[in-house]
Amino acid sequence: MSKQSMREEAERLIRETMEKKNIVIKQGNTRIEAICGKCGAPNRVQAAKGEVRVKFVCKQCGHKQETL
Ligand SMILES: [Zn+2]
Repeated sequence: MSKQSMREEAERLIRETMEKKNIVIKQGNTRIEAICGKCGAPNRVQAAKGEVRVKFVCKQCGHKQETL
């Protein structure tokens, strides 16, 4: 492999990594650690960016609720 093609390969990898990062930022999903109001079990809840109140069902007792 020549120096030229090696440099191109490295640049391509960097570009791909940057693009992947951009996709992650665009999705902007955050994980909220929500405590169940009924049994107190911690629940991981996926939330869209800027969303505060997310409906979820407690994995422990099945209680339907919203994150605070
Ligand atoms: Zn619960």
